[in-house]
Amino acid sequence: MHIRDIFQSERTTFSFEFFPPKTAEAAEGLFTAMTDLEPLRPSFVSVTYGAGGSTRELTRDLVVRLKTTTKLDPVPHLTCVCHSERDIAELLERYAQAGISNILALGGDVPRDRPHHDRGTDAFRYASDLVRYLKQFNEKHGGKPGGHPDKRGFGICVAGYPEGHPGTPNRVKEMDHLKAKVDAGADWICTQLFFDNRDFYDFRDRCEIAGIKVPIVAGVMPITSVKGMQSMAEMAAGCRFPAPLQRMVNRCHGDAEAVRRVGVHWASQQCADLLERKVAGIHFYTLNRSTATREVFANLGVTDASGLRG
Ligand SMILES: Cc1cc2nc3c(=O)[nH]c(=O)nc-3n(C[C@H](O)[C@H](O)[C@H](O)COP(=O)(O)OP(=O)(O)OC[C@H]3O[C@@H](n4cnc5c(N)ncnc54)[C@H](O)[C@@H]3O)c2cc1C
Repeated sequence: MHIRDIFQSERTTFSFEFFPPKTAEAAEGLFTAMTDLEPLRPSFVSVTYGAGGSTRELTRDLVVRLKTTTKLDPVPHLTCVCHSERDIAELLERYAQAGISNILALGGDVPRDRPHHDRGTDAFRYASDLVRYLKQFNEKHGGKPGGHPDKRGFGICVAGYPEGHPGTPNRVKEMDHLKAKVDAGADWICTQLFFDNRDFYDFRDRCEIAGIKVPIVAGVMPITSVKGMQSMAEMAAGCRFPAPLQRMVNRCHGDAEAVRRVGVHWASQQCADLLERKVAGIHFYTLNRSTATREVFANLGVTDASGLRG
């Protein structure tokens, strides 16, 4: 189902992000987490794509497996860096055959192990270029025999950054670039994780001022450890940990369980406030684990996502 159709029928979407596991042990952990999370009845789940396509087959196979063996609706991430048009077309053809309904279209970052990669050799430079290509693909293959089962082809999501993207310090220009992605055909925006809701509300207001009218889904990640917090600061570059959150973590004095409880509490407060302020959706960065997300749901007083939609 196109996510834009889900926005029509549900007041708020709830979704989970997974990454493709690289070892048999990690795969086991992921499927345990999924078994635990499926009863929460998410609107959809998304599957990340390793930098520069480093998980191309793993992402594709996990997405197709989820689509064919579970009730979950998987949304694959897809990035431009290090890809030819043929690479992208092959993946889209496979996803179309499997009946995948939506794609999260991203620019991506040059992988750390290929620092000298020449971006001039990539078929697409920015996410907006990929969105335009997806629209062409949809026109050519949507509803055609052997093409995409939906005559509209894929629904399209793009990324947004409430705290700003480090690649564009000029926040006015950044908004122009985000608007270009939406004008090219994106149906909705999913944000980078953030820990201070004021950043999200201000971003939402700035989108409105810029004439960006598509639904914006908020990215939330419960902190589960100090190490996790440090690696998130590295991965989600620019991400800010508010002083009250840092003080709460410091008060735990290294007690791992206490840090986890603080993280779940903080994320629960964020979600409750987002729901009050009528967010279009909440996307949980699960890191392939289920406990923290399930605890956030419990703290919100519901057993599955349908209880949050009212
Ligand atoms: C929800 C979400 C999911 C993600 N999933 C993945 C994933 O699965 N795999 C992965 O590798 N990474 C992922 N990322 C990280 C993302 O790939 C990086 O943040 C990347 O640097 C930017 O991707 P983008 O789609 O925002 O790129 P773009 O929208 O192309 O923007 C990249 C930078 O270029 C600037 N820009 C855009 N258009 C122009 C233009 N015309 N001229 C000049 N500058 C321009 C933008 O302002 C921005 O600074 C994800 C990020 C988010 C928020």
